[in-house]
Amino acid sequence: MQGNIMARPLLISGLIEHATLTHPDSEIVSRRCEGDIHRYTMKEAAQRSKKLANALSRLGAKQDDRIATLAWNNHRHFELYFGVSGMGAILHTINPRLFPEQLVYIINHAEDRWLFVDLTFIPLLEAIKDQISNIEGFVIMTDEAHMPETSLTNVLCYETLIQDESDEFEWPEFDENQAASLCYTSGTTGNPKGVLYTHRSTVIHAQAEIAKEALDIGSYSCMLPVVPMFHVNAWGTPYAAAMTGAKLVLPGPGMDGASLWELIETEKPDLLLGVPTVWLMLLNHMESIGKKLDSVNNVVVGGSAAPLSMIKKFQEDHGAFLVHAWGMTEMSPLGTANAKTRLMDSMSLEERYQLQLKQGRPVCGIEMKIVDDSNNEMPRDGVAYGRLLVRGPWVISSYFKNDDQSSFIDGWFDTGDVATIDPHNYLGIVDRSKDVIKSGGEWISSIDLENEAIGHPELIECCVIGVAHEKWDERPLLLAIRKEGSNVTAEEIKDYLSDKIAKWWMPDDVVFVASLPHTATGKLLKIEVRKKYHDYLLKAENA
Ligand code: AMP
Repeated sequence: MQGNIMARPLLISGLIEHATLTHPDSEIVSRRCEGDIHRYTMKEAAQRSKKLANALSRLGAKQDDRIATLAWNNHRHFELYFGVSGMGAILHTINPRLFPEQLVYIINHAEDRWLFVDLTFIPLLEAIKDQISNIEGFVIMTDEAHMPETSLTNVLCYETLIQDESDEFEWPEFDENQAASLCYTSGTTGNPKGVLYTHRSTVIHAQAEIAKEALDIGSYSCMLPVVPMFHVNAWGTPYAAAMTGAKLVLPGPGMDGASLWELIETEKPDLLLGVPTVWLMLLNHMESIGKKLDSVNNVVVGGSAAPLSMIKKFQEDHGAFLVHAWGMTEMSPLGTANAKTRLMDSMSLEERYQLQLKQGRPVCGIEMKIVDDSNNEMPRDGVAYGRLLVRGPWVISSYFKNDDQSSFIDGWFDTGDVATIDPHNYLGIVDRSKDVIKSGGEWISSIDLENEAIGHPELIECCVIGVAHEKWDERPLLLAIRKEGSNVTAEEIKDYLSDKIAKWWMPDDVVFVASLPHTATGKLLKIEVRKKYHDYLLKAENA
């Protein structure tokens, strides 16, 4: 028997309508590419989203058309989030850090019709303009006064495009499973793969993430998502802001420590969200100017593992709780969050830090399990580790225009991560399955080693890879970037690690480097590092 409840569709337009009626005065503050700080209200954002929807209709955009953006976190990008998806078209957020050939690939693969671009990224498009002929026109996200000279053709100015449009627009109603936005993963090998989110998945994801048990976002919040709107919809924060009325502070191109601090000092966010490298920059800056993050209660850290030293620093120097979260582009992205619990209050700080190192528990709606090589489920004892599979209403079911089903197993998605799950359902990411180090049949977590090594006060970034070894097949090698002026030696780093890790985990050597390669989403590009150092120990032995 079916229940008797209305089957109203969950649509992104519903979020912005709710925002207009419920918290019209909530603020959205952005650092603009033009250099200044822009501020307006949710109501104004909603009105401008409607003007944009009218403008897009005039340009001929229809349902399912892909409208692309190449833009920072700013108010115009926010308007595109609601205007494009709201009218039934698909917002394709492009990551500007992709290589030019990847940009060409995804713009063509997505069959984008119009591309909205921030001033900063125009040169990226000029360099590839002859290879993206499906684009009908470019809209530069600025006003007439700042319109640049450009070799792009069919160019419009955002402010001029929307200025004479009506701010009345009847959002169409359609099936909630219709596509709303598209984001490509920047894998380490092969072409990027598209993840096509639905209206339903986006709304449910936002509803799940605002919960206290997840990221704790409400009308009382003022959040600063440093995680980009071009990478998994800034972890859904624009939708969460519309849903709750939280104040939204958007950092634009200012991701460095000094620019972030300037915004934090004036806007006083209580919730920060971003990847560890961003917070390292901010923490270093705060240390250099001797200031504290007084307004911040919670810092959500995901994308890569949060090291112990960072959890401690936020807590002890700034009084901020680090909410360790894990997710993927394929999961919209939130999978787990390590929110504060009553039990944590009764723990010693050291005990609590150990728990915070875990990536947290599944956000309600997400199911997860670990499996062995034959896909048999493994115990949730916090010790056994296996391939992590997930399923849920905001988890991918297949890649966009891609027949490869190798990541989909009996209705579960294989994350490519290796993990433990403990009896309370806390997830511990051990490694990417490709990065785990297999030494004499036993596994060593490159992530755990990096996390310990980065705690050394004279190192600013660490990368551990498995390299070929005659006896053990693979042994860990640590590559590290020293702080400016530091002469710390390999032996000193090993001494530092000696009481922190099992003896057989000790890296065979420490190599100091000036820089490390990263993917477009800021993760270490270990495949490159492995290529370069694969024979490092064999050569050393034979030398
Ligand atoms: P992306 O799709 O670019 O967001 O990358 C997703 C991948 O990032 C995951 O499969 C993990 O390997 C990694 N990741 C995300 N969050 C964490 C975390 N908190 N700790 C360790 N790895 C993480």
